[in-house]
Amino acid sequence: MKTFDTVQGLKAHLEIERKAGKKIGFVPTMGALHNGHLSLIKKAKQECDVSVCSIFVNPTQFDDKSDLEKYPRTLEADSKLLKTESNDVIFAPTVKEVYPQGMSKGLDLKFGYLANCLEGASRPGHFDGMAQVVSRLLDIVEPDALYMGQKDYQQFAIVQSMIAQQRRPIDLVRCAIIREEDGLAMSSRNRRIPAEDRLRAPMIYRVLEGIKRNRMGLTVPELRYWGLSSLEMTGFKPIYVEIVNAKTLAPVSHLEDPDGVVALVATWLGEVRLIDNMIIS
Ligand code: AMP
Repeated sequence: MKTFDTVQGLKAHLEIERKAGKKIGFVPTMGALHNGHLSLIKKAKQECDVSVCSIFVNPTQFDDKSDLEKYPRTLEADSKLLKTESNDVIFAPTVKEVYPQGMSKGLDLKFGYLANCLEGASRPGHFDGMAQVVSRLLDIVEPDALYMGQKDYQQFAIVQSMIAQQRRPIDLVRCAIIREEDGLAMSSRNRRIPAEDRLRAPMIYRVLEGIKRNRMGLTVPELRYWGLSSLEMTGFKPIYVEIVNAKTLAPVSHLEDPDGVVALVATWLGEVRLIDNMIIS
């Protein structure tokens, strides 16, 4: 496994691989890797000749400075994990390397409602920053395929729109959510959950399952109310429980829709902000 911290070094290496006809699969991450990330690497390894994992905590997508400061940085442990998956290349650049001309220049792309709803409503600027870094990383890595998780459902939809708007010849692959045994979606933030809160954390999954099964035959507004109150009663501070069209992310009034329906949750558990989702139909 090779590790690069400069754009020039990485590009030179990938150019050789590309010239040899190798297919390049790319997994962008912010590090603090867990089995969720590793499942993306596994898929990239299965489908491509060379897997590239970037590890970069991108300042432009953090609306909250203390969240950025508290974000775990564990490059050594991450490298060990990536080795166990026989990952080929790590790209772990500095902020200067990614943004040599400064961080202020955004992208001239329009995401409309896709970026303003859900996470966009409570984290202003988050998706502009995310799209900015993914676009920059795609310019650097120039992969054939890009692997991203359903865990960040809205992020995936925005990257899909970005790739279409920029007409990039890239296969975007959505990878399933990997969960702990009790249902909690794996996340780098989970390591910040104190032990007493960790016991309640699977409630997010239970709420999503409850919405999907809808055993009581509730309406969509009733399901949302039930979800919010279940979380509140368990000690969460929910930010939203939404049931939306799987493509447009617009609220739906029924659990059936030709485009598909997805339920999404964002919530505080103590000081940790958690998100999760489930495809309902
Ligand atoms: P992050 O490091 O949080 O930016 O995540 C990097 C990539 O890993 C994103 O495409 C995420 O959607 C994906 N990811 C994060 N957690 C999971 C998970 N539990 N299961 C599958 N993919 C995940």
